[in-house]
Amino acid sequence: MDKYYSENWYQATDSFLKNASNFADVKMCVAGGNKFIVPYVMIGSGPNKVVINSGVHGIEGYLGSAAQNMFLDRFAKTLTPEFCKKYTICLVHVINGWGMQNRMREVQDKKNGGLVDLNRNFGVDFSNPDALPQNPKYELAHDLLLSKPDAKLKKEKIIEFRKRHLKDGAWDAISFGQYKHPYGLFYGGAEQMPENQMTLTIYDDIMQGAKSLISIGMHTGLGRFDRKRGQVTGQLLVSHPEQHKNTQYFSNMLPSTTVVADNRAENGPVLLGDLVDCLEMRYSAPELPVYTADFEIGTGEFPIMSPIYKRMDMGDARYDLLNYGNISAQTLQNLTESWYPSDKGWRDAALLRAYVLFSELLQNLK
Ligand SMILES: [Zn+2]
Repeated sequence: MDKYYSENWYQATDSFLKNASNFADVKMCVAGGNKFIVPYVMIGSGPNKVVINSGVHGIEGYLGSAAQNMFLDRFAKTLTPEFCKKYTICLVHVINGWGMQNRMREVQDKKNGGLVDLNRNFGVDFSNPDALPQNPKYELAHDLLLSKPDAKLKKEKIIEFRKRHLKDGAWDAISFGQYKHPYGLFYGGAEQMPENQMTLTIYDDIMQGAKSLISIGMHTGLGRFDRKRGQVTGQLLVSHPEQHKNTQYFSNMLPSTTVVADNRAENGPVLLGDLVDCLEMRYSAPELPVYTADFEIGTGEFPIMSPIYKRMDMGDARYDLLNYGNISAQTLQNLTESWYPSDKGWRDAALLRAYVLFSELLQNLK
């Protein structure tokens, strides 16, 4: 399994180009002098499109790219001509190349400042800054999260905050997205980012003549990996409640994958500006069903501490950036372990999760 992983974005992109060109012409998307191109490949010619994208969150692209290279190596050659008449399998390789290269989830917005979470930037109307989505509950946590790094005291305070705000929704709201603090957590940006533009350009190309769309984003990371207590989990996150037809669709199609519904999404999307909801709004029509989800491979499974560390590490990184101009080696290492553990056991098991997902998906599409 090791051979599918890369050391950096350049190597990952080379491998993808080499492997993908065995099956079809690889297309490239470039935007505004961005040196991190987004290559994508379409295998087959069917009107039912199945897209696997990776690296919307840069550092998570290490697993995503490895999974796509594994797909090309192990699954692409098994697709029959009949299958390819019905379906087109599309792989979109590492949407946030800068983040992957710099081991960050986000991308730096050089023009407006801040660290932008691309998965809070999709389909947001930035034309009127006063009308941007609001997340007032995030405000309660902002100062604490961005306070001076302190492994003991800050952790205690975040634990305390979680206890106090678990029921009023403020703890959850931290990750929903916000448009007020460029260096806050889960910041959605001040304008559409080039990477978001590229992604939608690629999907528009893929969707020409489409009769249906299944789109799955590869993600990792739930907090620092713990060699002893850590577990590699694989969950397909659907942004709809349990009884929704999309949740049911995935549950039926992927019986051995854990499909997690979002029961908070009774009246619409919970996350602001995420790709899965944006794709649904952009393409779905009565005669064109759209099923979107994110496959989240876990890095930590001690349920209370993982999300606490994760938020603390993200806040520490921002404190470092704002006060010293760069992220300390220790913080960067913590961030890496939260989203792309160095542990070989994790890396093997994570790819195995992707393997199971892909084989089940292909089996049930036939
Ligand atoms: Zn992610």
